[in-house]
Amino acid sequence: MLEIVPVPAFTDNYIWLVHDAASGETAVVDPGDAAPVLAEAERRRWSIGQVWNTHWHPDHTGGNLAIKQSTGARISGPASGNIAGQDVALSEGDTINIGNHAGRVIEVPGHTLDHIALVFDEDQVAFVGDTLFAMGCGRLFEGTPEQMFNSLGRLSALPDDTRLYCAHEYTLANARFAAHTEPDNSEITARLSEVEDLRAAGAITLPTTVVQERETNVFVRATKVEEFARLRAEKDSFRS
Ligand SMILES: [Zn+2]
Repeated sequence: MLEIVPVPAFTDNYIWLVHDAASGETAVVDPGDAAPVLAEAERRRWSIGQVWNTHWHPDHTGGNLAIKQSTGARISGPASGNIAGQDVALSEGDTINIGNHAGRVIEVPGHTLDHIALVFDEDQVAFVGDTLFAMGCGRLFEGTPEQMFNSLGRLSALPDDTRLYCAHEYTLANARFAAHTEPDNSEITARLSEVEDLRAAGAITLPTTVVQERETNVFVRATKVEEFARLRAEKDSFRS
C-alpha cells in the first residue's frame, strides 16, 4: 500500500510525499519548495529517490534542484523542456514506478499545455496537479476550454473510488462557487457545509474521489464544452 502524506507549502499548495513501505522507496509530487519536503522526509526517516512533476509552474517545480542536490533524486516530468533538473521526460502511456506500484502517465492539457496526471490504477490513486481540484478545476493559462473539458472528462472517467490528489487547497472557494451555480443540488450543499467545518478546524479537504467530483464538481458536471467555458469564465471573476 502507498502511504501518501501532504506537505503544505506557500499559502495553499500541497506537495505529496509518496512512500512504499515494502520497498522503502519514497517519491515527491510537485515540490514547489524543498525545505518543508526535506524536513518532513527526514522526520519520517524516508529517503526521497524520485521527484514527479505534473507541469512546469514554479510553485510545483521550484524545489526540484535543491531536492536533487540533497538526495540525488531522479526527476520525471512532462516533456515540455521547462522542468528544472529533469532526468526523465514523460508522455502519454509512459509508466513510472515506486516499488511494485506502477503509475501510468496521461496527458491532461488545459491549465498548461504540458500538464500530465499520474494514475496508479491498482492503488486507485491519481495525482492530478492543477487540472482537477476538489469541486473545481485549474485556470486556463495555456490551453483551450476544449482541451480542459476533455482532460476533466478523462479524470472523471476513472473508477468511482479513485482518490484524486490535487495540488492546492481551493475547496472552500470552489464549493461556494458550486453552491452559487447549482443552488438546488443537495450533494453540493452538504459538501459545502462539510468543507466549511474542515477549514474552520484548519483541516485538509483532500484527497477527493472521482464519485464525489461527479456529484459536486460543476466543471466535471458540464456536459458540453460551451457550458464548461462559460462556467470557467464565471469562476475567474467570482467573488464569494
Ligand atoms: Zn499550475
